[in-house]
Amino acid sequence: MADTAQKMIEDIRAEAQFAREWVGYAHPSEVVLAAMASVAREHFVPESVRTFAYANNALSIGDGQTISQPYIVALMTDLLCQVKCRHVLEIGTGSGYQAAVLSLLVESVYSVERIASLHKQAVQRLYLLGYDNVKCRLGDGYLGWSEHAPYDGILVTAAAEQIPQALLAQLKPGGRLVIPLGEKYGAQMLTVIDKEQDGSIVRREVLPVRFVPLLPRVSE
Ligand code: SAH
Repeated sequence: MADTAQKMIEDIRAEAQFAREWVGYAHPSEVVLAAMASVAREHFVPESVRTFAYANNALSIGDGQTISQPYIVALMTDLLCQVKCRHVLEIGTGSGYQAAVLSLLVESVYSVERIASLHKQAVQRLYLLGYDNVKCRLGDGYLGWSEHAPYDGILVTAAAEQIPQALLAQLKPGGRLVIPLGEKYGAQMLTVIDKEQDGSIVRREVLPVRFVPLLPRVSE
């Protein structure tokens, strides 16, 4: 029988127990789990893998890209929501699932995707499902989305080798960037970067992860 949203939440809790020593605190919060339980993940994955929609795994969404593993979505959302987040930027819209989860927790979500077909499908899907506080843009996420900056929080769902400077510049003082940092297809660390009120940067490594790489925008 296919997994259900409730089973997915139990699996996230179990994995969070395992990761507790790395992450350093009991997580994710009940608010984040409730948001994840209420987003119908089956609408965000291709029909061919719909049976696995609630499995605690990353799944292929086409164009060589993946929808992140639910536990990782929960962890990243939780890390972001620890700072007061009203206005959020996501880099890597992909299926739109992470943006939908965020939209239930913050006032406005801006999300940038580099692949036109994924961008288009995510826009349609988010519209049809009524996530109307999410705005999507086709573009290069390395550049952020300056028109709506500064952001309280920025979440990057693809791995960068270095911190993209434009993203740091678009973060409010007191804001937080959550990003996997490391080699393409190699060792990566989910990293939290806080911009203090005086503009200084505090960096903390949270968990070894494996994300698809952040790449420049595809030319059409
Ligand atoms: N957050 C997504 C999962 C994203 S997978 C979800 O919930 O489904 C990573 C995504 O980042 C892919 O869709 C990939 O195309 C996108 N990406 C990679 N490099 C990018 C860049 N420079 N700018 C914007 N998006 C990028």
